[in-house]
Amino acid sequence: MNQTVSLSLTPKQIQDLKHQYAQKLAKSANAYVDGMIQIDGCTITIYTSGKVVMQGPEAQSIASAYLPKLFAQAGSDEVGTGDYFGPVVVCAAYVDDKIMEKLKDLPITDSKVLTDPVILDIAPKIMKAVPYSALIVENTKYNEIQATHNLNAIKALLHNQAYIHLKKKLRDLPPLTVVDQFTPEGLYYRYIKDEPMIIRGLHFETKAESKYPAVAIASIIARYKFLKVWEKMESDFDFTFPKGASDLVDEAGRRFLDRFGEEKLHQVAKVHFKTTQKIKSTE
Ligand code: MG
Repeated sequence: MNQTVSLSLTPKQIQDLKHQYAQKLAKSANAYVDGMIQIDGCTITIYTSGKVVMQGPEAQSIASAYLPKLFAQAGSDEVGTGDYFGPVVVCAAYVDDKIMEKLKDLPITDSKVLTDPVILDIAPKIMKAVPYSALIVENTKYNEIQATHNLNAIKALLHNQAYIHLKKKLRDLPPLTVVDQFTPEGLYYRYIKDEPMIIRGLHFETKAESKYPAVAIASIIARYKFLKVWEKMESDFDFTFPKGASDLVDEAGRRFLDRFGEEKLHQVAKVHFKTTQKIKSTE
């Protein structure tokens, strides 16, 4: 199919274009034409104005190298690992220019600086616009896995799994895919070395949630899913759980243990925390 692509290039890009096809570059009698390049499947006309016209079946693919690149990135983050009560959630999300344009009125930033009501308000809007994968590990399952894996190993397995799902949705991950670093890259891959599928080429960076919108969005969605499980826990047990790990949490833990017993504690808490020993010893 014959295609015509018209581009407006910078002097530097024109110089690069001429350099790339130096052997094929010819002069033109037309005073407005700076040069002509005749290659297989494409005729390139460079005008003195900086306009460049590519014609022929290969025009589109040759022009693509000179089109402005879309901003695209994927990122992942987890929440709940520092909370005695509640699940661990890991999310991987993808954004590009078009998606960011749709979200431009929302506060896309590290979920830790957003209040719970703001997260509950904005996350559903974000989830409608953004391809993502979120994995929720509720406490019973978490306590089971934790018996044989350390926390960073669990995180690594979950991040890898979230990227596997996201990759399926997108068909491929963008070149820039950022993990909010919780362990060095070498250890991350060691933790997941026996997995049947391993997502490679990830970029690891600490505090990534404040530098990469994709990571910020992943953290907001993860926080939202965490809060939804939290709401259900509170209604199931008709109990108010405090977040984090503190004296307040110890105290709530003692009350919970008193009312529901140790078996139920496994359904709502990360029992490997020191908190468990503390609240059991002072029962
Ligand atoms: Mg993080």
